[in-house]
Amino acid sequence: MKHLLPELPYALEALAPAMSAETLQYHYGKHLQTYLDNLNRLVAGTDFEEKSLEDIVKSSSGPLFNNAAQAWNHIFFFDTLTPLSKPVGTGLHALIQRDFGSVEAFKQQLTAVATGHFGSGWAWLIKDADGRLKVLSTSNADTMLREGVTPLLTIDVWEHAYYIDYRNRRADYVEQVWGLIDWEKVENRLNTNLF
Ligand code: MN
Repeated sequence: MKHLLPELPYALEALAPAMSAETLQYHYGKHLQTYLDNLNRLVAGTDFEEKSLEDIVKSSSGPLFNNAAQAWNHIFFFDTLTPLSKPVGTGLHALIQRDFGSVEAFKQQLTAVATGHFGSGWAWLIKDADGRLKVLSTSNADTMLREGVTPLLTIDVWEHAYYIDYRNRRADYVEQVWGLIDWEKVENRLNTNLF
């Protein structure tokens, strides 16, 4: 099956100025498209050809894993953004309060992990196998999809995610991304089973 570029749930210019149309033209239109093109090329004629993107991420290695995982991470990331961010819902709020003390403390922790992560990667909020919420980071294409946890939210901290709008100021980018999070989607993921 061919892995296609999914439609964004917002217009390219809808997230500006926090995330400009130009950033999305490159990040979504070129970077994600290239991962998908590479993925389609690498699975052609192999046992992976009919597998879902999730199955490929969980069972591949090398260049195929890198492109499949980057495709999955980006689709998950872009799907979490919205121009109409509302406050954290009550169910998720209670869990964040239980595991981090407060929403503010959680945001500080994820901001610190996102800005402090060395090199390219992803900062995550996940629900672990025991149902606890945790903040973690992964490097390069590595993903929380195959760690036996439920990914709830991720922030892309590759330079291509922020260099057009923020140049080298990753901390400013992370600060602005907080205003674009679709908390309803994050909360809905508490009950999704990706495994
Ligand atoms: Mn990216």
